[in-house]
Amino acid sequence: MMIDLIIDGATVLTMENGVGYYNDASIGINNGKITFIAEQNDSITDKYKAKEYISGKDKLIMPGFIDAHMHTEISIFRGLAQDLNNWMELGLWPFSQHLDQEASEAAIRLNILEAIKNGTTTIGDFGSEIDITASTCQEFGVRGVLAKTINELDKKNPAEPGQLYNFDHKKGEKELDSALKIIDKYKNDDLLDFNLGPQALDMVSMDLLKEIYKQARNLDIQIHMHVAQGDREDWQIEKRYGDRTIPILNKNKLLGPELRAVHLTEATPEETKLLAESGAALTICSGSIGIIDGLVPPLQEFLEVSDRISLGSDQAPGNNCNNMFNEIKLTSLFNKIKSSDPRVLNAGQVLQFATSKAAEALNISDKVGSIAPGKEADLIFIDLKSPALTPVINSPLRNLVPNLVYSASGQEVESVMISGEFVVKDHKFLPANEEQIINKANQEAKRLMAKVDRDWLKEKSPLYKLQEKGYL
Ligand SMILES: [Zn+2]
Repeated sequence: MMIDLIIDGATVLTMENGVGYYNDASIGINNGKITFIAEQNDSITDKYKAKEYISGKDKLIMPGFIDAHMHTEISIFRGLAQDLNNWMELGLWPFSQHLDQEASEAAIRLNILEAIKNGTTTIGDFGSEIDITASTCQEFGVRGVLAKTINELDKKNPAEPGQLYNFDHKKGEKELDSALKIIDKYKNDDLLDFNLGPQALDMVSMDLLKEIYKQARNLDIQIHMHVAQGDREDWQIEKRYGDRTIPILNKNKLLGPELRAVHLTEATPEETKLLAESGAALTICSGSIGIIDGLVPPLQEFLEVSDRISLGSDQAPGNNCNNMFNEIKLTSLFNKIKSSDPRVLNAGQVLQFATSKAAEALNISDKVGSIAPGKEADLIFIDLKSPALTPVINSPLRNLVPNLVYSASGQEVESVMISGEFVVKDHKFLPANEEQIINKANQEAKRLMAKVDRDWLKEKSPLYKLQEKGYL
C-alpha cells in the first residue's frame, strides 16, 4: 500500500502503555494520520511503500506536548511580574491595564511560536482574545483547545478593597454569547476544539455559571475554569456564599466529568479528593504557581483518586516561559521536595501528564497524546546528539526518559510535525517569519511601556525597588 511518508530507524516513545519505548522503529503516516508504528524489522513494514522517506537516525520521535492552560495574550509582559507578593495588583495590573488588541495579537503570536519551538503541538489557551488565537492556530497549523474567558466583573464599577465584587450581568451574558459564536465560527476546523471558560467562581454569578454549564453540556464540551486559585477568591466566596469554592461547586452540582479545574492552589486535601471523585479533570501549573504564589498545588492528593491530569505553563509574566520541558521537570521536582521523597512522580509519569494523560483529561485522546494507528501525526523530533541527552544508553538500563525530563530544556526539539505537516523543520519555523514575530512583540511591548505610570511604579512596585537595589 502506498502512503505519504515513512520515518525509518528512529528511537520512539509512543506514550502508549507507559512510555512505549522502541529502539529502532518505523512510523508510517498517511493523510496526516499514523498508519503504523513497528520495529524496523517487523514484517508489517513490508506492506507499505511511501512517497517520501525520512531517516530517523539519532532522533527521538514522540507525541507533541499538550499545554493545557496558557494565557498567550499577556506574554508581552514576560518577566515583569515575579519575585513579589500580590502578583495581580502589584505585578501584572500596572502593565496589563494598557493591553489592547494589537499588543494582544503580537503576544499571542509570540507565545504560540515559543510553545511550538519547544515541542508543544496542542495550545490550551484561555483568554479574552481567543478569536485571534484561533486564527493564529489556523495560520500556523497548530492544534488548539481554546476557551474564551467569561467574567461578569463590572469594569465601570470596580469593588473597593474589602468589598464584594460588583457584577455586570449584561457583560457576562455578552461574553458567553461571544464565546458561543466563536465556537460556531470554527466548528468545521479539525485542528480546533473549544471549551467554555468561566474565569473563576468569584468572577461570575451562580446564575451565569449554571447557564455556562448548560451550554457546555448541550455542546458536549468541557468547562475550563480556574478553581480555588487564591486567597482573594477564598475571601469573596466565603463572604458571598458562606463556604469555600469546591464545596459550593459541589452543592450546586457543578463538580463532574465536564469540569477541568485549573490550579487548586488553595484547595484542602479533602476538597481536592472531592473534586477528583466527581470525575473532574485537573490542570496543574507548577512553574507559574511556584513563581507567583510560592506553593505546590495538591497534585499528589488528586492522584490518590484520579489520573485525569494535565499540565499548563500559564502565563509568561510569572512563569516565565511557555515551555513544557520546564513543566515536566518542575512538576516532578517540586513534588519530590514537597514529600521529601525522590521516588515521587518519576520521569515517565510526568511525561504522560504532558502527552497521553493530558489528551485523556482534555477529551482529545481519540486524536492525539500518543503514537498509535489512526491518531493524528502530531510528532516532535528530538536531536539525540544534543549534549544534554548524551550519552544515550539502552542497556542494561535506559537513560533516555530521565534525561528528557530532568536534563533537556526544549532546544533539543529539532522538528515539529502537526497532522503530518512540518511546522518546524531543523529548528526553522515554517508557517511565518519568526524574526517578524519577535520584532513585532518587542515593538508592541515598547509602545505599551510608554503608557505605564512611572511614578506609581516608583512608589509601589516591589520590582522597581529590586531594580534600584541592583537586582534587575
Ligand atoms: Zn490561568
